[in-house]
Amino acid sequence: MKMQVTEIAKAVSAVNAEQAWPEVSVTGVSFDSRKLTAGDLFIPLVGENDGHAFIQSAIDHGAVATLWASDHADSAPKDLPVILVGDTLTALQQLGQYYLQKINPKVVAVTGSNGKTTTKDMIASVLSTQFNVTKTHANFNNQIGVPITLLSMEPNTEVVVVEMGMDHFGELDFLSRLVQPDVAVITMIGEAHIEFFGTRDKIADAKLEIINGLKADGTFIFNGDEPLLQDRAENVKQRQRTFGLDADNTLSGSDVETSRATTSFKTNLWPDATYTIPMMGAYNVNNALAALLVGDTFHIRPESAQKAIASFVPTENRTEWLTGHKGEAILSDVYNSNPTAAKRVLAAFAAVPTNGKRIAVLGDMLELGDQADALHASLASELNPDTIQSVYLNGEHMQALAAALKVKYPETAVHYYTMDQQPAMIEALQQTVAADDEVLLKGSHGIHLEKVLTALETA
Ligand code: ATP
Ligand code: MG
Repeated sequence: MKMQVTEIAKAVSAVNAEQAWPEVSVTGVSFDSRKLTAGDLFIPLVGENDGHAFIQSAIDHGAVATLWASDHADSAPKDLPVILVGDTLTALQQLGQYYLQKINPKVVAVTGSNGKTTTKDMIASVLSTQFNVTKTHANFNNQIGVPITLLSMEPNTEVVVVEMGMDHFGELDFLSRLVQPDVAVITMIGEAHIEFFGTRDKIADAKLEIINGLKADGTFIFNGDEPLLQDRAENVKQRQRTFGLDADNTLSGSDVETSRATTSFKTNLWPDATYTIPMMGAYNVNNALAALLVGDTFHIRPESAQKAIASFVPTENRTEWLTGHKGEAILSDVYNSNPTAAKRVLAAFAAVPTNGKRIAVLGDMLELGDQADALHASLASELNPDTIQSVYLNGEHMQALAAALKVKYPETAVHYYTMDQQPAMIEALQQTVAADDEVLLKGSHGIHLEKVLTALETA
């Protein structure tokens, strides 16, 4: 991007916008002085740290101008243009919106309890067959990440695909109004962050805020297998299209087949074709259907979309196959867990072909509030001794699952460990795992199952 400081000062309604500005052009933005590149505008945000304190580092890295909160005016630097604003985060958002309007691409906004990043990446892959596409980098999906995504657009961007996360009411309302999507996508409704919402109904209400800024001639694309979304969509005025496995969706998937590394399916719109996703997990069919339906909405040729899905490279594939030191296959998904995602991964894991045992190692799922024990226990529905022969559970709430498994598992097959006992669990696993086994690791980041992974990998 390229913007003059005078243009930026106007776009963010700077306190000092009317002053005479030098001819300085900015070629990017950064709020992290360490990652700032020469030519950037520095955006000091105030959070746990106060970004204003890092201005010298920003200048050393080549900042050519800076936003600055007016209540910090006393400490404003003297040797580069300072754009004074009431609040630097608000200014970042205003600048993102200004730049969006200037480049004027089509906007696709993606939310949902699970599958946002995967779907965002698949959509970008499908649309890239015909358009210049910019997408959210990695998982950068909040009130800071969204404007940063907008400001990362090349001037020739024709479509921007924006991932939007939220854990409270009002967040998607804000982000949707900021970007005014042409297409708004909801991948699915799960239980993530239920601590803050109380019920899935309320989660669905909060997700629906993604249409609050949807253009009048825009399209709402959502998971039609979810009754909570079907109900709410009745009041939506914009064009609606649905995807899912139920036959009455606009785009419905069928004939799902899974293997260790791929998932394939067919669709109603092109019954002769088989689509292959280079990722395991039947839940990815949902994500691919969403992406194909967005592609169809943009009139992407079906053959191109099929190829784009097949060659898609996930930026954040959290499920990863690794090999342990005994030769066992390890399906690692240790950075994040919630009830819906854990159930889907367990279902996928149970279907993995093996000559040995399948061993599930599950860590606590955090941020579930009052319902934590019940939701942990609910994973029992996806655990059966026929397919997953032994279960290792780690963390306070997993005790509820251990209790729930007593009914169907022999006592010797379920092993429960408190957080403190993780080293003992690692030792027990190292003794029991054999070359032909499959081991699943899934838990919230705070449980640190990556330590189990490291131990199994290195020995
Ligand atoms: P975050 O909230 O962390 O941004 P996300 O919504 O972007 O997550 P992804 O990164 O795409 O989600 O996927 C994370 C995990 O969620 C996957 O590894 C898988 O376990 C699960 N998952 C992905 N897609 C779905 C889906 N459609 N339905 C249920 N679970 C899914
Ligand atoms: Mg994500």
